[in-house]
Amino acid sequence: MEQKYNNPIDIERVKNVDDYEIIICSICNKVYIHPVRCANCDYHFCKNCIENYLVYNPGKCPRCIFFVMKHPSPVQNKALSRLEIHCFYYPNCTEILQYDFLLKHEEKCIFNGIL
Ligand SMILES: [Zn+2]
Ligand SMILES: [Zn+2]
Ligand SMILES: [Zn+2]
Repeated sequence: MEQKYNNPIDIERVKNVDDYEIIICSICNKVYIHPVRCANCDYHFCKNCIENYLVYNPGKCPRCIFFVMKHPSPVQNKALSRLEIHCFYYPNCTEILQYDFLLKHEEKCIFNGIL
């Protein structure tokens, strides 16, 4: 399956952080990208992060005994949705985007591919 590469979201790029805990992935220490949830312990991880982890730790969860993938919680989605984030190509690109539109923007940002 084709996996698109996404730029990591450093916390410094987020304009309006009020709760680090809920937006930072404990594997990559960056803002979640495509988060998924462990059905067993309710912790979230980036989809990519947990998939890489599972390659070396089949069936295991970094937080509990075993990992069963589940959709992110509504609370999680809401916390991410309200974030306003500088484009990856800041300061060349001065756009500030809502989380839900960030990845789409970066894909077609005029600075993507030339920096
Ligand atoms: Zn991660
Ligand atoms: Zn777990
Ligand atoms: Zn941009």
